[in-house]
Amino acid sequence: TRSTMEDAYEAGDCIGTGSFGIIRKVVRRVDGQVLARKELNYGRMDERDLKQLTEEVNILEKLGTNDHIVRYYERFVDKPSSMLYILMEYCAGGDLAGVITRCRKNGQSLPEDVVWTYLAQITLALHDCHSETDAQGRKKPVILHRDIKPENVFLDENHNLKLGDFGLSKAMEQAAMTQTYVGTPYYMSPELINGQPYDVKSDIWALGCLIYELCAGHPPFHEARTQPELAVLIREGKIPDLPRAYSARLGQVVKAMLRQNPKQRPNTAQLKGLDEVRVQIRAGE
Ligand code: ADP
Ligand code: MG
Repeated sequence: TRSTMEDAYEAGDCIGTGSFGIIRKVVRRVDGQVLARKELNYGRMDERDLKQLTEEVNILEKLGTNDHIVRYYERFVDKPSSMLYILMEYCAGGDLAGVITRCRKNGQSLPEDVVWTYLAQITLALHDCHSETDAQGRKKPVILHRDIKPENVFLDENHNLKLGDFGLSKAMEQAAMTQTYVGTPYYMSPELINGQPYDVKSDIWALGCLIYELCAGHPPFHEARTQPELAVLIREGKIPDLPRAYSARLGQVVKAMLRQNPKQRPNTAQLKGLDEVRVQIRAGE
């Protein structure tokens, strides 16, 4: 199958690094379309994790056509080298981590209307994942992203956001936790810290952290040097105010997403219904 992939795509530069491999720019020979190719080594994963990984790629293929979800095209498996290749939409604008870094370097803050636009676009993506029916009204499984953070939200050439790096993280985590997981899980919700299962509202918590970080330049609970220290901060539930440049209204929405009790956090339908978000959604149509 490797030769069929190489027949179909011309490899270009490496554009990103992930925990299990790299992301490369490729050109589809048949029409010159530029795509991104995620190249994962599953050599260290056991059968079960590999099966789960495959299942999750299947979900991604089904997610398909949301304007704000990175579109997946196809995959190739090369058994001799234990490589999995995932072909997806190429996002030329980098990721939100880059946006945050640039703002910080320039001593600027992201304009409030841009923050609302980003909130609206991620809400649209998550709404698709979290809803129990598809566009035709058929029942579908709820998809939890589980790893919403600046590095996993990409921008296309028109500065539209695309939620990416889907669900893979879950299959990966179990296989990789001990060897590769070194970061501090700043966006971990109180229920996860308490050992409860992940649910849609844990994604909402992470979205609240992300919007906070877009405004403040750092996560809401960042003054912790160790994971136990971080857990204390998160469980304390004292959410710092947004910088003064931002409206009280935006601050309220962020605080609602960061409520300790998951049930009290807004769902995607409620976020979509906010006046400020509705304005942005209509502007994007
Ligand atoms: P991992 O699961 O290993 O974290 P990601 O999917 O998050 O991998 O990709 C790692 C980085 O590569 C991202 O943070 C982003 O900068 C870049 N990247 C990933 N996918 C794309 C894409 N479709 N278009 C452009 N850049 C991408
Ligand atoms: Mg990632």
